[in-house]
Amino acid sequence: MKWRTMDSAPRDGRMILGIRFNDIHWEYRIIRWVGKQPYPWRGQGGDWPDSRVDFWTHLLAPPDGMNCGVCGQVFWPTRVDAHYCSDACRMKAYRKRKRRGA
Ligand SMILES: [Zn+2]
Repeated sequence: MKWRTMDSAPRDGRMILGIRFNDIHWEYRIIRWVGKQPYPWRGQGGDWPDSRVDFWTHLLAPPDGMNCGVCGQVFWPTRVDAHYCSDACRMKAYRKRKRRGA
C-alpha cells in the first residue's frame, strides 16, 4: 500500500483511506472531503481536522464504487444512472456510439 501526503489527497468528495497517529497508535478511517472547518474530513465514527490526517491512499475495493465504462477507473457515482467517471469519458463513449451508428 502506497501512502501519500495529504497535499495530494482528492478533495472532490470521493472516499479515501486516511491514517493518522493519535499519540498512541495509528488510526485508519475511510474519509471523504466535505470542506467544513474545523473538521473537513468526514468519516464513519467521526470527523477529522485537516492537520491531523497524516497520509492517505486509494481504496482498493471501494464500497458502492463502480468502474468507468470507458477508462475502467473506479469512481463514486453521483447519479444512479452514471456509468462514466467524468464528462470526458462520457463524451468519448457518446462519440464511439455515434461512429458505430453511422
Ligand atoms: Zn473514465
